[in-house]
Amino acid sequence: MRPLLATIDPSALRHNLSVVRQHAPTAAVLAVVKADAYGHGLARAAAALSDAEGFALVELDAALRLRSAGYQKRIVLLEGFFEPGELPVLAEHGLSTVVHSMDQVAALDGLAPDARLDVLLKVNTGMNRLGLSPEQYAQALEKMRRNAGIASITLMTHFANADDERGVAWQMERLRRLPGHDALPLSLANSAAILRYPETSRANWVRPGIMLYGCSPFAGKTGAEAGLRPAMTLESRLIAVQALKPGDTVGYGGMFRAERATRIGVVACGYADGYPRHAPTGTPILVDGKLTRTVGRVSMDLLCVDVTGMPEARAGSRVVLWGEGLPVERVAEAARTVSYQLLCALAPRVRIVES
Ligand SMILES: *Cc1c(COP(=O)(O)O)cnc(C)c1O
Repeated sequence: MRPLLATIDPSALRHNLSVVRQHAPTAAVLAVVKADAYGHGLARAAAALSDAEGFALVELDAALRLRSAGYQKRIVLLEGFFEPGELPVLAEHGLSTVVHSMDQVAALDGLAPDARLDVLLKVNTGMNRLGLSPEQYAQALEKMRRNAGIASITLMTHFANADDERGVAWQMERLRRLPGHDALPLSLANSAAILRYPETSRANWVRPGIMLYGCSPFAGKTGAEAGLRPAMTLESRLIAVQALKPGDTVGYGGMFRAERATRIGVVACGYADGYPRHAPTGTPILVDGKLTRTVGRVSMDLLCVDVTGMPEARAGSRVVLWGEGLPVERVAEAARTVSYQLLCALAPRVRIVES
């Protein structure tokens, strides 16, 4: 069997949820499991995180799968419904919906009076992606309060800069200016806000995503610095070793040229598995537990690593691409992307097992 394998550690997921609770002790937790639980597998992650007060995702089919698996708590659709025809499905399965636009507000007029829909009214406090303007909010709230089909309303917003210097105060200020904001349950904090701004998670529904999977949302940091444990380890093996002479090159385009005698290990993992193709020579990788670097261009099914000075490295040597012993944040940094993207990009052909 091809030796590429992603191992998911349910105890790490549970541990990371406990870290969320340490930071947000009075909040209810909506564990964010969109994008197949950031690549970890929805069913598996949901089982490990079943202690959370609810789940949040964007895919209706995945929400329905959680319900058919017997999950009874709150399930929130973060982008809401995309057409009015989905509303009866939401009502039938007791799915909660974000309402972020006046089109959605208008569609709610068609709700059955016994729908008992749970709504998270999303206000745009500066992200300028989804959400009602403060003026629309007042109008929508009034309309929704008169709608017999709506059972409950939570006020929600999303932070644009919880992970950087700009912070959240400017958005919190806009939130405080909304009439009646303090009379509604709130949902504000993503991972970065949970870790950095405890005031955003008091008596709220917090929405942690990346930290549940063990990663830091902050540039240059790793999850371990926040007491988190990686939930996914992507590993493979060397399936060949090449001896290069000075001047020899590696892979497509010969992007790496050996200046001296160099041993190259060939790893069964490539961009069709979700490893970033734009990871340059020098991206960190572990061979037999030792830190080394990738060399040359990542190809579809293979990538190459420098094993010069590692005489014990041979076909069969264990390679960790990220996870235990090598934070995915470090690989993401080298590839000029974020851990989120690497985790979500894990390809369907990668075998997944639980540890
Ligand atoms: C994805 C998402 C989150 C989780 O964000 P993390 O940075 O992964 O914690 C929270 N809220 C909304 C609206 C999201 O779309």
